[in-house]
Amino acid sequence: MNNKLFFEEFNGKTVVLTGGNGQIGNVIAKSYKEAGAIVVNLDIENKEGFELLPPAPDLKNPQIFYIKSDITKREEVEGAIEKIIGTLKSIDVLINCAGIGVFTPFENRSEDEFDSVMDVNLKGTFFVSHAVVRHMIKQKSKGVILNIGSMYGVSVPDQRIYGDSGRNSSEVYGMTKAGVIHFTRYLAKYFGSQQIRVNCISPGGIFANQDAFFVENYVHKTPLGRMGNPEDLIGGVFYLTSSFSSYVTGHNLLIDGGFTIGD
Ligand code: NAD
Repeated sequence: MNNKLFFEEFNGKTVVLTGGNGQIGNVIAKSYKEAGAIVVNLDIENKEGFELLPPAPDLKNPQIFYIKSDITKREEVEGAIEKIIGTLKSIDVLINCAGIGVFTPFENRSEDEFDSVMDVNLKGTFFVSHAVVRHMIKQKSKGVILNIGSMYGVSVPDQRIYGDSGRNSSEVYGMTKAGVIHFTRYLAKYFGSQQIRVNCISPGGIFANQDAFFVENYVHKTPLGRMGNPEDLIGGVFYLTSSFSSYVTGHNLLIDGGFTIGD
């Protein structure tokens, strides 16, 4: 997709993104940069070596900046958001993309595994949204929030597709993603009168060199006949965070090649 088509929408806008070092977040961050935005990536890692957010960045130059943040730690999140507001003055778009899963069988689920997924996917999404939205409601240009859910927030994985891959999507992952979709709808209604829009994208499985048995089974169940890639999400991400969706809020957009249509 030609990201420059969105230049008028995003040029000079401030985009805060969590999980920007991941497979999906990275493509989202780079797509906004290509469309002219200033992106700040909150992540526990900085594999790509993004520049740390400086006190006085050149705002005419689209960039991806980094602030080391563990979104499960409220003080760290609030400190990062204050720093962004202090430096960039406003946040036009927030993308809650950081998320984790566990892939061991339900029968073996430990409390630590359960808590870690709940903490990142739900508590982290809550902490970041809570810290950002209070600035968005004060801003002249109202903000937009986009959460990244999952098709397993609305459907349940068929464990037979995994074989011995050890990549079985878990109950706790789906529970948190259903929670993210609900949180989207809650925030959309709560902040609608203040013109803050909140939407969600729920991707299907993204190809990442998974076990061949799994990929074959997965593709077989997908009407469009392939797994997704991060670029497949960008049209939806740009739509839901631009003026093209100015009357859309509380929506969950499935981008899954038709996987969840069912039999
Ligand atoms: P990924 O594992 O490649 O990236 C996740 C990113 O989140 C990483 O950069 C990681 O460092 C960061 N992160 C993890 N814990 C964090 C924390 N406590 N604080 C800050 N950052 C943290 O994952 P991905 O495949 O890019 O997935 C991105 C989002 O899309 C997730 O929410 C995931 O659940 C969702 N999703 C992914 C798929 C898929 O097939 N990949 C499908 C549906 C939904």
